[in-house]
Amino acid sequence: MGKGFGIKITKNIVYSIFNPGEKCWGPLIIKDYNDKEFWASPRSCALNYGVGIIEGLKAFRHKTGEIFLFRPDENAKRFNRSLEMIYVPIFPEEKFLEAVNLLVKSNSGFVPEHRNGTLYIRPVMYGNDQLGYSLDPEISYTAAFWCSPVGKYYGDDFGAMSLWLENEIVRAVPRGTGSIKASANYLLSRIANAKAKKNSCQETIFLDAKDRKYVEETGGTNIFLVKDGILSTPSLEQSTILAGITRKSIIFLAKEELGLEIQERNIAKEELFFADEVFLCGTAAVITPVGSIKDENGFHFIFDGQAGKITKTLYNTLTGIQCGDIEDKYRWLLRID
Ligand code: PLP
Repeated sequence: MGKGFGIKITKNIVYSIFNPGEKCWGPLIIKDYNDKEFWASPRSCALNYGVGIIEGLKAFRHKTGEIFLFRPDENAKRFNRSLEMIYVPIFPEEKFLEAVNLLVKSNSGFVPEHRNGTLYIRPVMYGNDQLGYSLDPEISYTAAFWCSPVGKYYGDDFGAMSLWLENEIVRAVPRGTGSIKASANYLLSRIANAKAKKNSCQETIFLDAKDRKYVEETGGTNIFLVKDGILSTPSLEQSTILAGITRKSIIFLAKEELGLEIQERNIAKEELFFADEVFLCGTAAVITPVGSIKDENGFHFIFDGQAGKITKTLYNTLTGIQCGDIEDKYRWLLRID
């Protein structure tokens, strides 16, 4: 394991179907991935109108061989915040945790060895057969949980990556769906990432929709910068940025473990160029240092273009807890049983 984030098919999938007659989510069903019984139809309101929500979390194998999830309760809560916003009945948190536990247990042979990759878990909700544009109360929904062993999201070492500063395409607008994990949000990131690639960059950093002045996030990560020992990250106030669980954990660890000052605020795009350190963070990307940012004027290197000291310390602390090499004193881990 260890190379890349490519998706591999594992053995089983777990799902539940919302029964509109009884107004409740049905029992958890475990099936071979190839059964296709749970597949979305061409008439699904997910495919036709984007009624789809995703989540993402990881399972880690510790030295003892046991498998742990990182803060899955936070994913369960965020799944429901997403569902509520698009008027889909909430999925009970205990059922979410039970589904993830069942999924990982039944695919445990796919969880990579200690520190040699992780099992990425993707809960997804999609509207079923009816078109559902008019919020028809008869619509049924599927919540499905699938997983894949993965390596590093951005390459195999801790080398700093390059970001494309996107001045035209916006990812999210105020009071839109930017703060939830709506499948539709990822379409604009995909379009912008094609531009990033053309510009020899690995990822896109988006700006605010109104003024194109302030930094928001990338398509799948939050962003932090370090300047004069202060850690800053864009604030969540405008509801255009996803409240990342890694972001929340980093803010907590930076305060509690490193004693750093943290600022959640508007960050002007130029601040990135003059930062001492910049890094991205998310479940998939973990903590990934940014070495350079490109805009229409060319590449701007962040300090010496390498991973900075605070970035490395935060990475070691976070992954140490996740992999069971540092005591889990904040009780963030949940053992698969
Ligand atoms: N921002 C976006 C748009 C994302 O899709 C993700 C990934 O889930 C994140 C940020 C990071 O969130 P988390 O740390 O919860 O994975």
